[in-house]
Amino acid sequence: MLPNFIQRFLSMFTVDMGIDLGTCNTLVCVRGEGIVLNEPSVVAVQKHTGEVLHKGQAVGWAAKEMLGKTPGSITAIRPLRDGVISDFRITEAMLSYFIQKVNGRSWGFGPRVVIAIPSGITAVEKQAVKQSAQRAGAQIVYLVEEPVAAAIGAGLPWVEPTASMIVDIGGGTTEVAIMSLADIAVCESVRVAGDDMDEAIIGHMKKTYNLMIGEQTAERIKIEIGSAAPVGEETSMEARGRDMISGLPRKTVVTSEEIREALQEPISAIIETVTRTLERAEPELAADLVDNGITLAGGGALLRGIDVVLQNATGMEVRVADDPLTCVAAGTAIFLENLEVWKSSIESDLEA
Ligand code: ADP
Ligand code: MG
Repeated sequence: MLPNFIQRFLSMFTVDMGIDLGTCNTLVCVRGEGIVLNEPSVVAVQKHTGEVLHKGQAVGWAAKEMLGKTPGSITAIRPLRDGVISDFRITEAMLSYFIQKVNGRSWGFGPRVVIAIPSGITAVEKQAVKQSAQRAGAQIVYLVEEPVAAAIGAGLPWVEPTASMIVDIGGGTTEVAIMSLADIAVCESVRVAGDDMDEAIIGHMKKTYNLMIGEQTAERIKIEIGSAAPVGEETSMEARGRDMISGLPRKTVVTSEEIREALQEPISAIIETVTRTLERAEPELAADLVDNGITLAGGGALLRGIDVVLQNATGMEVRVADDPLTCVAAGTAIFLENLEVWKSSIESDLEA
């Protein structure tokens, strides 16, 4: 360990990075520059060998375009899909590709990386994430739990002696946490989030129209006309897929009402997780929340009416963070700026 003043001197030549390693999207920010990369957490691999395709075309946007459209020999994988790392090797390939893409220049001295990870991942998985970042050139790696980063990014008073609550609805997981004094007081993570909404839409199209649609189409329907409560005008759109009986391509019109109905199950599961977390809070913390309310982050927070249903279910004020999709990444950037003060308040720091 170098003396503090030397570390501080060296850090002037260093590219410090904050990474939101999400189940759907990975964002990277660089200290002093803000968000410099925002790409889907998708990797294309050779089906038989399991080898990652030639890097430039195999990770991120290029790979997402392949999802559901790959020829027989190639498959596109989301290695963090359910908030657990399904494949260490592929996660590492993805992480190092993103880090190296941002850091085309040299690393400088003692680069530090703050990585926000789903709070449900195991100790072994955490270790794997750290080692991947180190192999990609990071010298010091700090892991911060996603809800903490989201709370920081949303500007919640997480270090103060008052409770604040964040609900981060991502692709694979919804993370709910009540924080106070720079610590998580109560936290729940469920594997129900945006992906399950897409699945629910796929199920609905199958059942009602005998139409098989792909995940990307389902996501588009959700984003364009999906809602959790009847807010705004009802609309409709065309959906294309494959007829399950004739096997031929076909299109049909779906309405916002029926999609809302189809989304009810995953939405209820999210509401349940929020109320369960509230029930576990100490009375004093619960009392603070009456004033401070609930803040929503993650892409799922953009679903129309999700704030309304949560407000109705909890009786508390619910607000959506300013930019829910970049909240966690913004939180890692703020964390970087306050590294010296805050690094002791997160459980893990590991040095190379
Ligand atoms: P993660 O942190 O798990 O990577 P994100 O916070 O990036 O997830 O959110 C991705 C999820 O948000 C996806 O399921 C995506 O479909 C969903 N999403 C993005 N925009 C919207 C929107 N406008 N309405 C509803 N869902 C959305
Ligand atoms: Mg996230």
